[in-house]
Amino acid sequence: MAVIHLLSQNTIDQIAAGEVVERPRSVVKELTENAIDAEATAISVEIKEGGISLIRVTDNGSGIEKSQIRKAFLRHATSKIEDAQDLPHIQSLGFRGEALSSICAVSQMELITKTQEDFTGIHYQIEGGAECEFSEIGAPKGTTFLVRNLFYNVPARRKFLKQPQTEGSYVADLMEHLALSHPDISIKFIVNGQVRFQTSGNNQLKEVIYRIYGKEVTDHLIEFSLNGKSVRVRGFLGKPEQNRSNRNFEIFFVNGRYVHNDVLQKAVEEGYKQYLMQHKFPFCVLHFEFEPEDIDVNVHPAKMEIRLQHGAEVYAEIAAAIRDRLHEIELIPDVLLTEEKEQPSQIRQAPEPFEVNRTSRIYQESETIRGAGGGKSRLCQREYCRKRQDRKRDRIRSCRIR
Ligand code: ADP
Ligand code: MG
Repeated sequence: MAVIHLLSQNTIDQIAAGEVVERPRSVVKELTENAIDAEATAISVEIKEGGISLIRVTDNGSGIEKSQIRKAFLRHATSKIEDAQDLPHIQSLGFRGEALSSICAVSQMELITKTQEDFTGIHYQIEGGAECEFSEIGAPKGTTFLVRNLFYNVPARRKFLKQPQTEGSYVADLMEHLALSHPDISIKFIVNGQVRFQTSGNNQLKEVIYRIYGKEVTDHLIEFSLNGKSVRVRGFLGKPEQNRSNRNFEIFFVNGRYVHNDVLQKAVEEGYKQYLMQHKFPFCVLHFEFEPEDIDVNVHPAKMEIRLQHGAEVYAEIAAAIRDRLHEIELIPDVLLTEEKEQPSQIRQAPEPFEVNRTSRIYQESETIRGAGGGKSRLCQREYCRKRQDRKRDRIRSCRIR
């Protein structure tokens, strides 16, 4: 007969940790979400060896009161809800009270925290769920979490981690999304001692997009906002010519949370439908705002998925608004329709004599280069250059005659 064992708290914690802490990225996600919930205006994240050997998350938020520190590390201990009745109105990113207990069960963790009211901070150390130190320490207001040697006590889990570089790239993706989700927070990301990026926290989403994706992407953005019946949206749509071959750049935030949601994804793609070829996807960074009771974020422990109450309405509103916005914008790239358009301004002026020599020399050179080819467009260009040259000569002659 099989013997039924009651598992120890430590074993329960390690099993439960598996749901929340999958890899370094999950740890960074939970800790940065806590910092945002603590109303931090600046967050600094540092990782070493892809976050496997060290993760440091520092914030300037509220800090944790001395008497609450030990409690914060207990399973299902949270300051964000009191009971199930609060669930439909959740405004915070966290609420399950599982992150700290899960992370400390599978790593060597340190916390330094101080509230505005306290004179000194607290240094708390907990390894594999067991407390090692609780002492006073001088510290600025806010919280720093250090997570060392993730899965040091669960070799089976550690084995499934990828190379530090790959784990680091997962964290980097997360950090980019975090910065895009909160342009109002200054976010600094350091990898192996080097600053990867830092945002100013001036609440300009476009500036964050620029810092992360660069000028090329930022130059092709269309501002988008929608004040619909069921949803409010603000953000940026990439012009269709900036399309991608995968969905990685369809970046959605719902009430400040980075999420995947089929309805939103399909709605956006429907809006772009007539502007994109099949198997091409848009670049977009969109912040959706719903009434908290219209969404269910309690679908998955990692809270990456949400359920929408009025999916059909939301879909229709978003698809139509995006379609209209893209329609509104002049999407046809500037095309040279006439010879006159391409003529630079100095050519329109009467050239000096040396200018004639120079342009005819350039013309001859380009003729020699082009000689080897000879497609239709090249012939047109040659014809065009010849006409331009003739016109110039005529103008100079008429000037001289005058
Ligand atoms: P949850 O975020 O779901 O409440 P966590 O395990 O992540 O659960 O955190 C437990 C509690 O610890 C939080 O409810 C919060 O009160 C406190 N806490 C965690 N991180 C911070 C932080 N960076 N600043 C202030 N308080 C924090
Ligand atoms: Mg949390």
